[in-house]
Order: sequence, then structure tokens, then C-alpha cells
Amino acid sequence: MTVPVVTRRGFLGLAAGLGVAAVGARLTRSPLFLSGRAAPPLSGPPFTLGVASGEPLPRGVVLWTRLAPDPQAPAGGMPGSPVPVRWEVAHDERFGKVVAHGTATARPDAAHSVHVDVRGLEPSREYFYRFRADGEASPVGRTRTAPAPGSDGRVRFAFASCQDYEEGYYTAHRSLADDDVDVVLWLGDYIYEGGPSTKGVRQHEGPEPVDVDAYRRRYATYKTDADLQAAQAAHPWVVTWDDHEVDNNYAADHSQRDDQTPADFLLRRAAAYRAWWEHQPVRLPAPTGPDYRIYRRLALGDLATLHVLDTRQYRTNQPCGSPVDIGADCAEQDVPGATLMGPEQKRWFFDGLRRSRARWDLIANQVMLGPVNFSGDPANPIRNFDQWDGYRVERGEVLHAFSRFSRNPVVVTGDIHSSWVNDLVVDPAASGGASPRTVGTELVGTSITSSFPFAGVIDAIVPTQPTIKYGDGHSHGYVRCDLTRHALRADFRYVSSIVEPTASVSTGASFVVEAGHPGAQRA
Ligand code: FE
Ligand code: CA
Repeated sequence: MTVPVVTRRGFLGLAAGLGVAAVGARLTRSPLFLSGRAAPPLSGPPFTLGVASGEPLPRGVVLWTRLAPDPQAPAGGMPGSPVPVRWEVAHDERFGKVVAHGTATARPDAAHSVHVDVRGLEPSREYFYRFRADGEASPVGRTRTAPAPGSDGRVRFAFASCQDYEEGYYTAHRSLADDDVDVVLWLGDYIYEGGPSTKGVRQHEGPEPVDVDAYRRRYATYKTDADLQAAQAAHPWVVTWDDHEVDNNYAADHSQRDDQTPADFLLRRAAAYRAWWEHQPVRLPAPTGPDYRIYRRLALGDLATLHVLDTRQYRTNQPCGSPVDIGADCAEQDVPGATLMGPEQKRWFFDGLRRSRARWDLIANQVMLGPVNFSGDPANPIRNFDQWDGYRVERGEVLHAFSRFSRNPVVVTGDIHSSWVNDLVVDPAASGGASPRTVGTELVGTSITSSFPFAGVIDAIVPTQPTIKYGDGHSHGYVRCDLTRHALRADFRYVSSIVEPTASVSTGASFVVEAGHPGAQRA
């Protein structure tokens, strides 16, 4: 939806009746708020899940919210009818200078979520936004547009992943909300699908979801967290998924659950994808079944092209038959045709690398690309087959594409609940015996909260593997990056605790990647 920019004068008729003090307070219901349409009153304040923005363009951004007066009730406590939602975007937090506004419709078949694709904004500029429905105002969100084409000025961003609600508090999100970043990249495991357990500090609301209503309730559990709401309200996010948005370690139509046939699992995947779309600020059409393309590109001026991957939906099954996906090397790792991206996405990715004229290629990836031998013994390696180590032929193709087509590729990765910095090296065996050559860099962020039980293993194996510059399995948090024409600087931001609701945050390690010199150095 394209929305014309209106002058403040044009908006005064509405704005005058509201005033700053009205934000967050119950307003007198007025036909103006509802665009003259009658709607049944809601059972309570509807903005319990917060607000978010995402997918920044130079002149546009997506605004998101979902009406749910009773988040865990069926349909979030909403009536089975559409509800109009007013939205407005301003230069200032007090909404004195509103630059765009309109009315979206929250529909029952979209769980009363709204995705407003605002256009007509200015590049590299901060904006504030809010919604109104049923006489209630939402919290105020802040967002930022992308740099204009041609600009190669500094961009600050953060990336994060893996926020198991049960395992800890979202102190990392509270810190991220306060950081001065232009955009946040979410690399997957926004929800975890497990039923309630006693493993952590709080519990999931119900059993493992398989239908859309249960996935909606799971998102509602996560979205009601105040710290997560703060981080989503503070910055635009670019969101991709990994496995737990559907089911642990799934691969295309293969469930990890033994009692689901591929046909049953595809129904479940459709439900999970639907709920994902309903709860994320994405510029994507609503999914209509189990097949849903979310891989996409965004430009950060001429500084960086952001390639957002989906390595779950199209992958071949994990190789080597290990039920826990970790084990000794086997021939299946090197079967041609084994894929994490699928042929279409792979063509799209390599074509995008070839066409990009930006200084950097940033790749939002799920599972670790660089090789890891978890035994530390070169004679008897142990691999995690769920990551690119299980798909080595395709990894070779990616590194080859980096080498041929990309000026400065940096892969940012989630999934493994631990921090890593990897030099991406073309394997001499795969390149006809040529000497190893670093063609890119990988930064793996730790989890917001999800646990990593093998921290001591990382401590032991990192010194044995020269491509791994850093590894840490003890800490939780996120990675904050500062990108210029000349260099990328990454600060690994770690929380002091995830089981205390008030914890401190500090930088545990910093690395620099210089443009033109692939590979990372300690800052
Ligand atoms: Fe995870
Ligand atoms: Ca994962």
C-alpha cells in the first residue's frame, strides 16, 4: 500500500483531538478514530503485543501490530469481525509533525494483525509511529529508513537469534533497545516450539503447537515480554526464521517428530508460517499454504546489499543418519545435490552476489557456514550435520561464489547458541589442491537466552582449528556492528546473567573486518 505524505495541516483535524497526553491512555471513543465506521467495542486494551517496524527502504518501512486484548484467549480475545486501525508516522516523538497517516484493517483471518507499508518517507531518517483502535492508542515506536541509493555512509546494525522464553529473561533485548543502531537482523528461533518444561525461569503457555491457533498463542507468549517489545519498538527489524519457528531441526517436509508424516508436517508448516507472518513486520504477502518464499534482498545504500536466506524450507534431509545430527564424518556429506538453499534460492543468491555493486555483501544466514570439528582431533572429526558441515558440496559453491562475485562478503549466523568468528577459507581439496585462501568472514552471534551445554568443548577445540578466530559458549547476548566503507567492527555484547531479571551488559570481544581483506582480526 502506498500512502501519500500529508502535511501537518491536513492532519490537524484528527491530531488536535488527541494530544500527547492521550498516548497509552483510554481515549474517548470518537468516530474520527474509526474513520466513521462502526465497530464493536473490544474486551480490553488491544495493544498487548506491542508494535514493531521492519524492512526499511530509503523511502518506506513496514509498521506492524496485532490487536489481542486477551493474548492467550481464542483469537486473542477479538471478535470475529474486521477492526479498523488508525496509524500515524511523525518526525517527532510527540507527534507534533505527523507526515503520514491512514487506516488499516485488522482482519480475523490474519489474527487481527496489521502490516502497513508506509511510503513517501525520506532516506536515513528517524520516524515515530503509533496505532489507534477502539479508542486506545498503542505504545509509540521508533524506526528509521534505509540510506538512499548512492550513499555509502556508515550503517550501524545488530544481529541476534534464539530466544527460548523458558530459559531466561530478555535483558539482551533491553540493552539492544537502548543501542543506537539503524536496523536489527533477526536470524531465527524467535519462538521455541516445545511444551512447558521446568528447565528455566518461566514456562511456555501450552503443549507443542501444531495448528495455527497454538502457534498464535506461542507468539503471544513471546510478544508479551516487555524487553522484547522494547527492542522491537526501538528499531526496524529484518526477520528471517530457522527451525524452531516450526519444529526443531526440520528439513523441508521432514519433521523431527516421528509421529508426523510429510503430509501432516506440511499442514503444520503452513500453520507455523502463517503465524510467523502474522507476528513479524515483514513486507511479504500472507502465506497461503506450506510453500512460502521469504528469502529476499534489501539495500543499505551503496554500502551493503543484505541477502536474507531461508535454509530450512528447501533443504535436503540432514546426512549421515545420526538421530541427534552430530557424529563422525560420512560419505553422505559430500553427495552432490545435497542442499540447504534449494536450487532456485541458490541461483537467486549467486545472481544477487554477481549483480550487487555495493561495497559489502551481508548475508543473513541461519546455521554455521564455516567448518567445525567438535572433537578437535583431525583424525576423528565430529560434525554437526544440521549446519553447512552436512552440506559440504554446496558450501564449496558458496565460497566459490564469494571468491568470484563478491567484493566483501560477511555472513552473520545464529542457531548454535554460542559465539564464533570464522575465516571462510576455500578448502584446498575442493579447489584442485591450490593453497587455502580466505574469501570471506563469518560472525556467529550467541543466543539471547537459549542454552549451549558444551561451552567447555568450544574452549578446547578453538585453538586446534586455525580458521576459527574466536569461540565462546559461556555467554548470551547479541552482536552490534558498525559498518563503513573501510571496515566492519563487531562487538559481542554479553549479559551477565539470563536468570536474574536485572543483569548488566558488556562487550565480551570485538573484531574488525577490513574491506578488501577477508577474515577477522581482534579489535
Ligand atoms: Fe536456537
Ligand atoms: Ca536453530
